[in-house]
Amino acid sequence: MNKTHHIDTRLMHTGSAPFDPATESAPVSLPSIRTSTVRFKSLDALDRAIARRASGERIAAYGRQGLDTHRAFEDLICELENATHSYIAPSGMAAITLAFMALLDAGDHALVADCVYGPTRILDHSLLERMNIEVTYFSAQDDLAALVRPNTRLLYVESPGSLLFETLDLPALATFAQQHDLVLASDNTWGSGYLYRPLDLGAQVSVIAATKYIAGHSDVMLGAVATNDAKTAARLAKAHYALGYSVSADDVWLALRGARTLPLRLEQHARNALEVCRFFASRPETVRIFHPAWPDDPGHALWQRDFHGSNGMLSVALALEPAQARRFVDALTLFGIGFSWGGFESLVQLVEPSLIAPHGYWTLAPHALVRLQIGLEHVDDLIADLQQALDGAQA
Ligand SMILES: *Cc1c(COP(=O)(O)O)cnc(C)c1O
Repeated sequence: MNKTHHIDTRLMHTGSAPFDPATESAPVSLPSIRTSTVRFKSLDALDRAIARRASGERIAAYGRQGLDTHRAFEDLICELENATHSYIAPSGMAAITLAFMALLDAGDHALVADCVYGPTRILDHSLLERMNIEVTYFSAQDDLAALVRPNTRLLYVESPGSLLFETLDLPALATFAQQHDLVLASDNTWGSGYLYRPLDLGAQVSVIAATKYIAGHSDVMLGAVATNDAKTAARLAKAHYALGYSVSADDVWLALRGARTLPLRLEQHARNALEVCRFFASRPETVRIFHPAWPDDPGHALWQRDFHGSNGMLSVALALEPAQARRFVDALTLFGIGFSWGGFESLVQLVEPSLIAPHGYWTLAPHALVRLQIGLEHVDDLIADLQQALDGAQA
Protein backbone atom coordinates (compact mmCIF):
# COMPACT_ATOMS: atom_id res chain seq x y z
CA MET A 1 0.00 0.00 0.00
CA ASN A 2 1.05 3.57 -0.73
CA LYS A 3 1.70 5.01 2.74
CA THR A 4 1.35 8.57 1.44
CA HIS A 5 -2.38 8.03 0.88
CA HIS A 6 -4.80 8.95 3.65
CA ILE A 7 -5.90 6.10 5.91
CA ASP A 8 -9.44 6.45 4.46
CA THR A 9 -8.06 5.66 1.01
CA ARG A 10 -5.91 2.80 2.24
CA LEU A 11 -8.88 1.25 4.05
CA MET A 12 -10.70 0.98 0.69
CA HIS A 13 -7.80 -0.70 -1.13
CA THR A 14 -6.11 -2.91 1.46
CA GLY A 15 -6.76 -6.62 0.90
CA SER A 16 -8.31 -6.40 -2.56
CA ALA A 17 -8.20 -9.61 -4.59
CA PRO A 18 -5.17 -10.11 -6.87
CA PHE A 19 -5.70 -10.54 -10.62
CA ASP A 20 -6.11 -14.10 -11.91
CA PRO A 21 -3.14 -14.54 -14.31
CA ALA A 22 -5.36 -16.55 -16.70
CA THR A 23 -8.19 -14.02 -17.02
CA GLU A 24 -6.33 -10.87 -15.93
CA SER A 25 -9.37 -9.97 -13.86
CA ALA A 26 -10.36 -10.05 -10.21
CA PRO A 27 -13.40 -9.48 -8.06
CA VAL A 28 -13.40 -6.13 -6.25
CA SER A 29 -14.23 -7.89 -2.99
CA LEU A 30 -11.87 -10.66 -1.93
CA PRO A 31 -13.88 -13.87 -1.38
CA SER A 32 -14.07 -15.66 1.95
CA ILE A 33 -11.55 -18.47 1.54
CA ARG A 34 -12.60 -21.23 3.91
CA THR A 35 -10.28 -24.12 4.53
CA SER A 36 -9.12 -26.54 7.18
CA THR A 37 -5.93 -27.37 5.36
CA VAL A 38 -3.69 -26.34 2.50
CA ARG A 39 -2.54 -28.63 -0.31
CA PHE A 40 0.78 -28.30 -2.13
CA LYS A 41 1.75 -29.10 -5.70
CA SER A 42 4.84 -31.05 -4.62
CA LEU A 43 6.89 -31.88 -1.55
CA ASP A 44 9.40 -29.26 -2.66
CA ALA A 45 6.65 -26.66 -2.67
CA LEU A 46 5.63 -27.74 0.85
CA ASP A 47 9.26 -27.55 2.03
CA ARG A 48 9.57 -24.04 0.58
CA ALA A 49 6.38 -22.95 2.33
CA ILE A 50 7.56 -24.30 5.66
CA ALA A 51 10.95 -22.59 5.28
CA ARG A 52 9.31 -19.27 4.36
CA ARG A 53 7.03 -19.53 7.41
CA ALA A 54 10.00 -20.29 9.64
CA SER A 55 11.71 -17.12 8.39
CA GLY A 56 8.65 -15.07 9.41
CA GLU A 57 6.68 -14.83 6.17
CA ARG A 58 2.94 -14.80 6.59
CA ILE A 59 2.00 -17.78 4.46
CA ALA A 60 -0.05 -20.76 5.52
CA ALA A 61 1.07 -24.37 5.69
CA TYR A 62 -2.12 -25.41 7.48
CA GLY A 63 -5.73 -24.20 7.64
CA ARG A 64 -5.52 -22.82 11.17
CA GLN A 65 -3.15 -20.13 9.92
CA GLY A 66 -5.77 -18.90 7.44
CA LEU A 67 -5.43 -17.99 3.78
CA ASP A 68 -5.87 -14.80 1.76
CA THR A 69 -8.92 -13.50 3.64
CA HIS A 70 -7.00 -13.69 6.90
CA ARG A 71 -3.89 -12.07 5.36
CA ALA A 72 -6.08 -9.23 4.11
CA PHE A 73 -7.49 -8.63 7.58
CA GLU A 74 -4.02 -8.73 9.13
CA ASP A 75 -2.96 -6.12 6.57
CA LEU A 76 -5.99 -4.00 7.43
CA ILE A 77 -5.16 -4.10 11.15
CA CYS A 78 -1.56 -3.13 10.33
CA GLU A 79 -2.83 -0.17 8.27
CA LEU A 80 -5.14 0.95 11.07
CA GLU A 81 -2.56 0.57 13.84
CA ASN A 82 0.52 1.58 11.82
CA ALA A 83 1.93 -1.83 12.76
CA THR A 84 4.23 -4.28 11.00
CA HIS A 85 2.72 -7.44 12.52
CA SER A 86 -0.78 -8.41 13.56
CA TYR A 87 -2.37 -11.58 14.94
CA ILE A 88 -6.04 -12.49 14.65
CA ALA A 89 -7.92 -13.81 17.67
CA PRO A 90 -11.43 -15.30 17.91
CA SER A 91 -12.62 -12.44 20.16
CA GLY A 92 -11.35 -9.24 21.71
CA MET A 93 -10.96 -11.05 25.02
CA ALA A 94 -8.94 -13.78 23.28
CA ALA A 95 -6.68 -11.05 21.90
CA ILE A 96 -6.14 -9.68 25.42
CA THR A 97 -5.33 -13.16 26.74
CA LEU A 98 -2.90 -13.67 23.85
CA ALA A 99 -1.10 -10.45 24.74
CA PHE A 100 -0.76 -11.41 28.43
CA MET A 101 0.35 -14.98 27.62
CA ALA A 102 2.87 -13.79 25.05
CA LEU A 103 4.38 -10.95 27.05
CA LEU A 104 4.67 -12.47 30.54
CA ASP A 105 6.79 -15.28 31.98
CA ALA A 106 6.31 -17.13 35.27
CA GLY A 107 7.45 -14.91 38.14
CA ASP A 108 6.68 -11.66 36.30
CA HIS A 109 4.58 -8.80 37.64
CA ALA A 110 2.18 -6.68 35.58
CA LEU A 111 0.78 -3.21 36.25
CA VAL A 112 -2.76 -2.95 34.90
CA ALA A 113 -4.88 0.21 34.69
CA ASP A 114 -8.01 -0.07 36.83
CA CYS A 115 -10.16 1.27 33.95
CA VAL A 116 -9.59 -1.76 31.70
CA TYR A 117 -12.38 -3.77 30.14
CA GLY A 118 -14.06 -5.67 33.01
CA PRO A 119 -13.33 -9.27 31.95
CA THR A 120 -9.61 -8.41 31.71
CA ARG A 121 -9.75 -8.21 35.48
CA ILE A 122 -10.49 -11.91 35.82
CA LEU A 123 -7.22 -12.88 34.14
CA ASP A 124 -5.28 -12.53 37.39
CA HIS A 125 -7.35 -15.01 39.43
CA SER A 126 -8.36 -17.33 36.59
CA LEU A 127 -5.04 -17.73 34.81
CA LEU A 128 -2.08 -15.60 35.81
CA GLU A 129 -1.85 -16.46 39.51
CA ARG A 130 -1.58 -20.16 38.64
CA MET A 131 1.46 -19.25 36.50
CA ASN A 132 2.98 -17.30 39.40
CA ILE A 133 2.32 -13.97 37.66
CA GLU A 134 1.17 -11.11 39.88
CA VAL A 135 -1.01 -8.16 38.88
CA THR A 136 -1.32 -4.75 40.53
CA TYR A 137 -4.12 -2.44 39.44
CA PHE A 138 -3.45 1.29 39.36
CA SER A 139 -5.52 4.40 38.71
CA ALA A 140 -4.36 7.47 36.79
CA GLN A 141 -3.82 9.34 40.09
CA ASP A 142 -1.44 6.72 41.55
CA ASP A 143 2.34 7.19 41.75
CA LEU A 144 3.32 4.50 39.27
CA ALA A 145 7.01 4.56 40.17
CA ALA A 146 6.12 3.38 43.69
CA LEU A 147 4.33 0.35 42.20
CA VAL A 148 7.15 -0.88 39.97
CA ARG A 149 8.97 -3.97 41.28
CA PRO A 150 12.19 -5.60 40.11
CA ASN A 151 10.10 -8.25 38.29
CA THR A 152 7.59 -5.84 36.70
CA ARG A 153 7.51 -6.59 32.99
CA LEU A 154 4.23 -5.29 31.57
CA LEU A 155 2.32 -2.00 31.78
CA TYR A 156 -1.17 -2.71 30.42
CA VAL A 157 -3.62 0.15 29.89
CA GLU A 158 -6.75 1.15 28.03
CA SER A 159 -7.41 4.66 26.79
CA PRO A 160 -10.08 5.86 26.92
CA GLY A 161 -11.04 3.45 29.69
CA SER A 162 -14.09 1.21 29.71
CA LEU A 163 -17.28 2.60 31.30
CA LEU A 164 -16.00 6.17 32.03
CA PHE A 165 -13.76 6.79 29.01
CA GLU A 166 -10.99 8.48 30.97
CA THR A 167 -8.12 9.38 28.63
CA LEU A 168 -4.63 8.42 29.77
CA ASP A 169 -1.45 10.29 28.84
CA LEU A 170 -0.05 7.50 26.70
CA PRO A 171 3.16 9.29 25.59
CA ALA A 172 3.98 9.93 29.28
CA LEU A 173 3.25 6.28 30.11
CA ALA A 174 5.48 5.22 27.20
CA THR A 175 8.36 7.31 28.56
CA PHE A 176 7.80 5.80 32.00
CA ALA A 177 7.73 2.27 30.54
CA GLN A 178 10.95 2.89 28.68
CA GLN A 179 12.67 4.21 31.83
CA HIS A 180 11.66 1.08 33.76
CA ASP A 181 12.18 -1.41 30.94
CA LEU A 182 8.48 -2.36 30.75
CA VAL A 183 6.47 -3.40 27.72
CA LEU A 184 3.56 -0.98 27.24
CA ALA A 185 0.42 -2.59 25.84
CA SER A 186 -2.87 -0.80 25.28
CA ASP A 187 -6.43 -1.94 24.61
CA ASN A 188 -7.36 0.17 21.59
CA THR A 189 -10.92 -0.99 21.04
CA TRP A 190 -12.33 2.53 21.58
CA GLY A 191 -9.97 4.02 19.00
CA SER A 192 -9.97 0.95 16.72
CA GLY A 193 -6.82 2.27 15.04
CA TYR A 194 -8.72 4.91 13.12
CA LEU A 195 -9.21 7.32 16.02
CA TYR A 196 -6.15 6.47 18.08
CA ARG A 197 -2.77 4.81 17.41
CA PRO A 198 -1.06 3.61 20.60
CA LEU A 199 1.97 2.34 18.65
CA ASP A 200 2.57 5.84 17.24
CA LEU A 201 2.41 7.18 20.82
CA GLY A 202 5.06 4.79 22.14
CA ALA A 203 3.26 1.54 23.03
CA GLN A 204 4.78 -1.76 21.83
CA VAL A 205 1.49 -3.63 21.63
CA SER A 206 -2.05 -2.64 20.72
CA VAL A 207 -5.05 -4.89 21.27
CA ILE A 208 -8.38 -4.41 19.49
CA ALA A 209 -11.77 -6.03 19.84
CA ALA A 210 -12.73 -5.93 16.14
CA THR A 211 -16.13 -7.13 17.35
CA LYS A 212 -16.89 -3.45 18.00
CA TYR A 213 -16.42 -0.62 15.47
CA ILE A 214 -14.23 -2.44 12.94
CA ALA A 215 -16.76 -5.17 12.15
CA GLY A 216 -19.42 -2.63 13.06
CA HIS A 217 -22.59 -4.64 12.45
CA SER A 218 -23.08 -6.66 15.66
CA ASP A 219 -22.72 -9.94 13.84
CA VAL A 220 -19.20 -11.18 14.53
CA MET A 221 -16.75 -11.80 17.39
CA LEU A 222 -13.15 -10.98 16.48
CA GLY A 223 -9.95 -9.58 17.97
CA ALA A 224 -6.43 -8.64 16.95
CA VAL A 225 -3.06 -7.86 18.49
CA ALA A 226 -0.67 -5.54 16.66
CA THR A 227 2.96 -4.55 17.14
CA ASN A 228 5.84 -3.02 15.23
CA ASP A 229 8.55 -4.54 17.41
CA ALA A 230 10.20 -7.64 15.92
CA LYS A 231 11.06 -9.26 19.27
CA THR A 232 7.51 -8.78 20.57
CA ALA A 233 6.14 -10.10 17.28
CA ALA A 234 8.15 -13.30 17.68
CA ARG A 235 6.69 -13.85 21.17
CA LEU A 236 3.17 -13.13 19.92
CA ALA A 237 3.58 -15.50 16.95
CA LYS A 238 4.70 -18.36 19.21
CA ALA A 239 1.91 -17.87 21.74
CA HIS A 240 -0.67 -17.45 18.94
CA TYR A 241 0.41 -20.79 17.43
CA ALA A 242 0.48 -22.58 20.79
CA LEU A 243 -2.95 -21.32 21.82
CA GLY A 244 -4.36 -22.72 18.58
CA TYR A 245 -6.44 -19.66 17.76
CA SER A 246 -8.42 -20.00 14.58
CA VAL A 247 -11.10 -17.72 13.13
CA SER A 248 -13.57 -18.56 10.39
CA ALA A 249 -12.77 -16.89 7.06
CA ASP A 250 -16.43 -15.87 6.93
CA ASP A 251 -16.09 -13.89 10.17
CA VAL A 252 -12.89 -12.25 8.94
CA TRP A 253 -14.66 -11.43 5.68
CA LEU A 254 -17.50 -9.75 7.57
CA ALA A 255 -14.99 -7.63 9.48
CA LEU A 256 -13.18 -6.66 6.25
CA ARG A 257 -16.51 -5.66 4.76
CA GLY A 258 -17.40 -3.66 7.84
CA ALA A 259 -14.06 -1.87 7.91
CA ARG A 260 -14.65 -0.32 4.46
CA THR A 261 -17.23 1.98 6.03
CA LEU A 262 -15.44 2.51 9.35
CA PRO A 263 -14.56 6.20 8.70
CA LEU A 264 -18.12 7.08 7.66
CA ARG A 265 -19.73 5.25 10.54
CA LEU A 266 -17.40 6.69 13.17
CA GLU A 267 -18.04 10.21 11.94
CA GLN A 268 -21.80 9.77 12.24
CA HIS A 269 -21.58 7.96 15.60
CA ALA A 270 -19.43 10.83 16.91
CA ARG A 271 -21.74 13.55 15.60
CA ASN A 272 -24.80 11.86 17.10
CA ALA A 273 -23.05 11.30 20.43
CA LEU A 274 -22.14 14.98 20.76
CA GLU A 275 -25.79 15.92 20.13
CA VAL A 276 -26.84 13.48 22.84
CA CYS A 277 -24.26 15.03 25.20
CA ARG A 278 -25.82 18.43 24.51
CA PHE A 279 -29.23 16.99 25.36
CA PHE A 280 -28.01 15.49 28.65
CA ALA A 281 -26.25 18.75 29.54
CA SER A 282 -29.66 20.45 29.34
CA ARG A 283 -31.31 18.00 31.76
CA PRO A 284 -31.46 18.65 35.51
CA GLU A 285 -30.88 14.94 36.36
CA THR A 286 -27.47 14.97 34.71
CA VAL A 287 -24.63 14.97 37.24
CA ARG A 288 -21.82 14.42 34.77
CA ILE A 289 -21.17 13.37 31.18
CA PHE A 290 -18.25 11.06 30.41
CA HIS A 291 -17.18 11.51 26.78
CA PRO A 292 -13.70 12.76 25.82
CA ALA A 293 -14.94 14.81 22.84
CA TRP A 294 -17.29 16.72 25.18
CA PRO A 295 -15.48 19.96 26.17
CA ASP A 296 -16.33 19.56 29.90
CA ASP A 297 -14.73 16.11 30.10
CA PRO A 298 -11.43 16.25 32.06
CA GLY A 299 -9.78 14.20 29.30
CA HIS A 300 -10.79 16.65 26.57
CA ALA A 301 -7.35 18.30 26.20
CA LEU A 302 -5.58 14.92 25.93
CA TRP A 303 -8.21 13.80 23.45
CA GLN A 304 -7.59 16.90 21.35
CA ARG A 305 -3.83 16.30 21.48
CA ASP A 306 -3.66 12.53 20.82
CA PHE A 307 -6.83 11.44 19.00
CA HIS A 308 -8.02 11.78 15.41
CA GLY A 309 -11.73 11.80 16.18
CA SER A 310 -14.41 10.35 18.42
CA ASN A 311 -17.12 7.70 18.43
CA GLY A 312 -20.60 6.97 19.77
CA MET A 313 -19.70 5.88 23.31
CA LEU A 314 -20.69 7.96 26.31
CA SER A 315 -21.67 7.46 29.92
CA VAL A 316 -23.81 9.71 32.02
CA ALA A 317 -24.16 9.89 35.79
CA LEU A 318 -27.77 10.64 36.65
CA ALA A 319 -29.29 11.79 39.94
CA LEU A 320 -31.87 9.00 39.86
CA GLU A 321 -32.81 6.46 42.49
CA PRO A 322 -31.94 2.88 41.45
CA ALA A 323 -35.60 2.12 40.70
CA GLN A 324 -35.93 5.30 38.61
CA ALA A 325 -32.78 4.43 36.68
CA ARG A 326 -34.20 0.99 35.89
CA ARG A 327 -37.49 2.59 34.76
CA PHE A 328 -35.54 5.00 32.52
CA VAL A 329 -33.65 2.19 30.80
CA ASP A 330 -36.72 -0.03 30.45
CA ALA A 331 -38.71 2.87 28.94
CA LEU A 332 -36.23 3.39 26.08
CA THR A 333 -37.58 2.05 22.79
CA LEU A 334 -34.68 2.68 20.38
CA PHE A 335 -31.83 1.57 22.66
CA GLY A 336 -31.31 -2.16 23.00
CA ILE A 337 -30.51 -3.29 26.54
CA GLY A 338 -27.25 -5.13 26.17
CA PHE A 339 -23.49 -5.28 26.50
CA SER A 340 -21.03 -4.60 23.73
CA TRP A 341 -21.07 -1.68 21.31
CA GLY A 342 -19.68 -0.55 17.97
CA GLY A 343 -22.57 -1.78 15.83
CA PHE A 344 -24.95 0.40 13.83
CA GLU A 345 -27.66 0.42 16.46
CA SER A 346 -28.00 2.20 19.79
CA LEU A 347 -27.46 0.26 23.00
CA VAL A 348 -27.84 1.02 26.69
CA GLN A 349 -26.26 -0.54 29.77
CA LEU A 350 -27.24 0.33 33.33
CA VAL A 351 -23.83 -0.11 34.92
CA GLU A 352 -23.87 -2.38 37.97
CA PRO A 353 -22.40 -0.49 40.96
CA SER A 354 -20.07 -3.45 41.64
CA LEU A 355 -18.61 -3.15 38.13
CA ILE A 356 -17.71 0.51 38.45
CA ALA A 357 -16.66 0.43 42.12
CA PRO A 358 -13.06 -0.73 41.39
CA HIS A 359 -12.45 2.27 39.07
CA GLY A 360 -10.51 5.02 40.88
CA TYR A 361 -12.00 7.58 38.48
CA TRP A 362 -15.56 6.91 39.70
CA THR A 363 -16.39 9.25 42.58
CA LEU A 364 -20.11 9.78 42.03
CA ALA A 365 -21.65 6.81 43.87
CA PRO A 366 -24.52 6.34 44.63
CA HIS A 367 -25.64 8.14 41.46
CA ALA A 368 -26.79 5.90 38.63
CA LEU A 369 -24.34 5.34 35.79
CA VAL A 370 -25.77 4.67 32.35
CA ARG A 371 -23.55 3.79 29.40
CA LEU A 372 -24.85 4.47 25.92
CA GLN A 373 -23.68 3.44 22.50
CA ILE A 374 -25.14 6.09 20.22
CA GLY A 375 -25.97 4.38 16.95
CA LEU A 376 -26.65 5.56 13.42
CA GLU A 377 -30.38 6.26 13.88
CA HIS A 378 -31.53 9.84 13.30
CA VAL A 379 -30.34 11.71 16.36
CA ASP A 380 -33.64 13.59 16.78
CA ASP A 381 -35.38 10.24 17.28
CA LEU A 382 -32.76 9.12 19.79
CA ILE A 383 -33.07 12.34 21.79
CA ALA A 384 -36.88 12.18 21.77
CA ASP A 385 -36.64 8.61 23.07
CA LEU A 386 -34.21 9.59 25.85
CA GLN A 387 -36.44 12.54 26.76
CA GLN A 388 -39.64 10.51 27.09
CA ALA A 389 -37.84 7.82 29.08
CA LEU A 390 -36.26 10.34 31.49
CA ASP A 391 -39.56 12.15 31.97
CA GLY A 392 -41.38 8.86 32.53
CA ALA A 393 -38.79 7.53 34.99
CA GLN A 394 -39.56 10.29 37.46
CA ALA A 395 -43.32 10.47 36.97
C1 LIG B 1 -15.74 -5.61 24.10
C2 LIG B 1 -14.38 -5.27 24.52
C3 LIG B 1 -13.38 -6.22 24.58
C4 LIG B 1 -13.64 -7.69 24.33
O1 LIG B 1 -14.05 -7.97 23.03
P1 LIG B 1 -14.92 -9.27 22.72
O2 LIG B 1 -14.80 -9.40 21.24
O3 LIG B 1 -16.30 -8.97 23.19
O4 LIG B 1 -14.30 -10.41 23.45
C5 LIG B 1 -12.12 -5.82 24.95
N1 LIG B 1 -11.85 -4.54 25.26
C6 LIG B 1 -12.79 -3.59 25.21
C7 LIG B 1 -12.43 -2.19 25.56
C8 LIG B 1 -14.09 -3.92 24.84
O5 LIG B 1 -15.02 -2.97 24.83
